[in-house]
Order: sequence, then C-alpha cells, then structure tokens
Amino acid sequence: MPRKFFVGGNFKMNGLLADIDRIVDHLNASHLDPNTEVLISPPAIYLLHVRDRVKKGIEVAAQNCYSEKQGAFTGEISPLQIADSGIPWVIIGHSERRTLFGDIDSVVAEKVRAALEEGLNIILCVGETLAQREAGETLKIVEHQLDCVKREIGPWAEVCHRIVIAYEPVWAIGTGKVASAAQAQEVHADTRTWLASHVGKEAAEDTRIIYGGSVSAKNCVELATQPDLDGFLVGGASLKPEFVDIINSHLKK
Ligand code: PEP
Repeated sequence: MPRKFFVGGNFKMNGLLADIDRIVDHLNASHLDPNTEVLISPPAIYLLHVRDRVKKGIEVAAQNCYSEKQGAFTGEISPLQIADSGIPWVIIGHSERRTLFGDIDSVVAEKVRAALEEGLNIILCVGETLAQREAGETLKIVEHQLDCVKREIGPWAEVCHRIVIAYEPVWAIGTGKVASAAQAQEVHADTRTWLASHVGKEAAEDTRIIYGGSVSAKNCVELATQPDLDGFLVGGASLKPEFVDIINSHLKK
C-alpha cells in the first residue's frame, strides 16, 4: 500500500477563539485532496472546540502530553485524558518542547510510550540544531533521537502505523530558512534506512516521514517531489489560507 500523504498544522500557542474559528471554517469550506491525511493541532484549551467544529476527515492533535495517566502534575495533560476527549493524535518531541521546556530524549521517549499505551497516534518530531548540522552530526543526532524512543517502546513494528516521524531541523523552524529538497531527502532516506534495520523492512516502507521547517505554499511542491518525503508538519503557514495549498501540494507531485 502506498503511503498516504500527510499534512499537519501546528498552531503552537497562537490564535484566540475567533482566529481558530476563522482557520477551521476556511478549512471546512475548502476542497482538500482526499488522498491526503489532514490534521490540525490547536492550543490545548481549544482542542474540544475544534474537535466539534472541524469537518469530517480533518483530524485533531494535542501539541504535547505528559507521561503519566493522572496525578499531581499541575498544568499537564495526560494521554489518557487526550484519548478520553476523542482526540486521536498527539505531537511529541517538538523542538520547542525540547529546547524551551526540558523535553530531553528520555522524556520524549517516555511520552511516546505513554501515548501509545492509551491508543493515541503520534507525530514524533526529530531534528538537529544548526551547530549539529555544521558539525556534520545531522544523521547521528536524528538516529540517536529515534534510538531513544525505540529502547523505551519495545516492538515498534507493531505500532509503526501509529507513529508518523516529523523531520524538523531546528534551524528551519519558524526562521523562514527551509531545508533544500536534497537536504530533506537525505535525512528522510536515512531515517527510512534506520527504520528498516532497527524496526523492520515493512515498517520502513509503511511509515510516513514528514518534513517541517518553514514550509510554505511556495516551497512545498518541490519538497513534495522527494521520494521519501510523505508530507509536512506546518507551523506558521498553517494559520494562513495558504495551508490549503500545502495540503493540496501532493496533487501537483
Ligand atoms: C513547526 O512548528 O512544527 C514548524 C515546522 O514551524 P514553521 O512551519 O513555522 O517553521
């Protein structure tokens, strides 16, 4: 089965209720490629509202979760609560979580395990900083981030259809500096090779590996032509009408 193209919109901590409604209503009114899986990830406080307002076929994701089911963890949301709220997806390991909120590799791995246990689907973000890229460490860093998750969750192959890997070079997120198609393809291909040898050949073929980092309507079509690039995780542009063009970029592939 060919991998279904996947485009997610990460609103981050942006938008008030009226803005979120405007974005959702625009998506609801737009023609979206039926061969692309579409997801939006509003701030946690709007998750249930968006779940109820968005049209069928667009999925909703939390931007983060904690690794415990419940308890004295003020300000956190558990995977159990996300699942209980009918939110099927969660983004884990976003670079802003890693750099600003202390989500080191082991924390990310625990969150992935906890989210899998509650039946959630996961967008697992990985990626290198500029210094790591300049030191020639990109592939090593990404493989290490994947390794940490693998060690924590055990048999990844059994859940591979529930994990989308988002390659998001930290230097490209929110900076307007997009990875070239060749740079993205190199990391995506290496990630697939890593999956083939550490998780299984079938899982490697089936797993969606999406790209994130300053994706826009202008650059998405060229990126989408890369053989190992199965979609996008979009930040800033997901708040704008051009998000629809990004969702439909696969039609132009
Ligand atoms: C992101 O937040 O995942 C992201 C890729 O942001 P941006 O598209 O704004 O670079």
